Amino acid sequence: MTFSVLPIRDRFNVKPGRLFIDGAWQDGGESRFDQIHPATNEVVTHLAEAGASGVNAAVAAARRAFDKGPWRKMAARERKRLLQPIVDRIYAAEEEIAYLQTLDNGMPISFSRGGRVSAKVAADMFDHYAGWIDKITGETFPHYTDANDIHYMTFRDPVGVVAAITPWNGPVMTFAMKVAPALACGNTVVLKPSELASLAALKLADIIAEADLPPGVFNIVTGGPVTGEALSTHPDVDKVSFTGSPVVGEKIYSTGGRNMKRLSLELGGKSAALVFPDTRDVRTAARNLMGLCSTFLSGQICSTPTRAVVHRSILDEFVHHAQEQVKEVRFGDPFDPATTSAPIISKRQVERVCGYIESGKEQGARLVFGGDRPGGDLARGNWINPTLFVDVDNKMRIAREEIFGPVLSVIAFDTEEEAVAIANDSEYGLSGGIYTTDLSRAFRVAREMRTGTVGVNGYSAMPNSPAGGIKRSGLGREGGWTTVEEFTELKTVMLNLAA
Ligand code: NAD
Repeated sequence: MTFSVLPIRDRFNVKPGRLFIDGAWQDGGESRFDQIHPATNEVVTHLAEAGASGVNAAVAAARRAFDKGPWRKMAARERKRLLQPIVDRIYAAEEEIAYLQTLDNGMPISFSRGGRVSAKVAADMFDHYAGWIDKITGETFPHYTDANDIHYMTFRDPVGVVAAITPWNGPVMTFAMKVAPALACGNTVVLKPSELASLAALKLADIIAEADLPPGVFNIVTGGPVTGEALSTHPDVDKVSFTGSPVVGEKIYSTGGRNMKRLSLELGGKSAALVFPDTRDVRTAARNLMGLCSTFLSGQICSTPTRAVVHRSILDEFVHHAQEQVKEVRFGDPFDPATTSAPIISKRQVERVCGYIESGKEQGARLVFGGDRPGGDLARGNWINPTLFVDVDNKMRIAREEIFGPVLSVIAFDTEEEAVAIANDSEYGLSGGIYTTDLSRAFRVAREMRTGTVGVNGYSAMPNSPAGGIKRSGLGREGGWTTVEEFTELKTVMLNLAA
């Protein structure tokens, strides 16, 4: 049966997007672009391309609010009082945010509502960072020499104007991961959501607009790479907090270096999960790993282990259970609670993923299932069937490059050392997985894996624990106190009482 996402747009009265600058919503931007839904390729609405002029206005407002406004010097109690109500307002709008996120990117509504990228998680982030406001403390130091009248102490000052740039795949969670700590630390913010997923971010901006923050403290500009580049290179921006692809991250790294902007870069990955023969249950490991590639965002998550490094003795059993798992996959209307999997975000990305599948076949990997696209009504949208390759060599492109689609590559190993070497033989270092019941092995291998996070028998991020990548997966960490460090500058003050 043919489905359309437009009734949901109308139910939530989605209007063409606007910009929020200096405490006011405004029409404008340099041009408009279509927001296209990946499940059907219908045009949902139009959004403003802020361009250089919109970015200049937003950064000027944020600069003024930081340099001249009360925000950065505000008493902890007061800043907390202003940010804390955002938590309840996000909860109150939970359902609408879930629907808008699915209208943004086709994430199945059951995940958008409940999962680790839902409005609940965004509310938790604001709650967590509002709690830090009165605990952002410095240190005092014992005298190193005899000068007892000289005292040294440190303070954590806000960094200044923060450009926050987010990707399309977790627009609610990444918004909160950047905006909540940046504001809590006393910075002012200009956020640019992905041009492929701006509607939920605009709703969150609306919630913040209601929060009585001084004008210019929070601003949102929409648009694509042109707007992103204008923002990330703006001379009045002190810090760029970016989540997105390594290619764009590297661009920001090289241009940001010019005026020493502070940078946090959460980039892509080609993560490996090592499945040892002593895992409690091969079925669970196979279902988890295949499930991450075939359901939810269909493998379009940065930390998904897309290399399953499996002990040779359990390889056939692993493949059997992976094959059973995909029988449960349901494509279709993303607003139907029975739908399990998202479409690929754009037609361009469909071509990219199909190109990787072809390269896997050409380079000698064996396609066990998938590799094709569903027909019928689904042919209107950007769907690709879950795909499993075995006999994968870690040198193949499908083992080295981030595909961002429903493709799992299985690589066999014989010894623990070999498994670790395969996992670490990657230019990325975002996350790692280990399936074992042997505690000593779990600890040993976790310490050996060159990644920002490691999950033993599964992984899930929390607002109070740090996550991030090494190597080409990025710079810095998001989560808990480490984020407070990322959004503040340490200042040392010496006080000479003898003078
Ligand atoms: P992307 O890099 O294409 O876009 C991300 C953002 O950057 C968008 O807002 C985009 O408009 C903006 N942008 C594009 N060109 C720019 C430029 N020259 N200067 C400044 N901004 C620019 O990424 P995407 O397709 O939206 O997201 C997918 C990627 O994000 C994947 O690589 C994925 O692994 C990564 N990701 C990483 C994490 C993490 O926490 N490490 C989380 C989610 C996604």
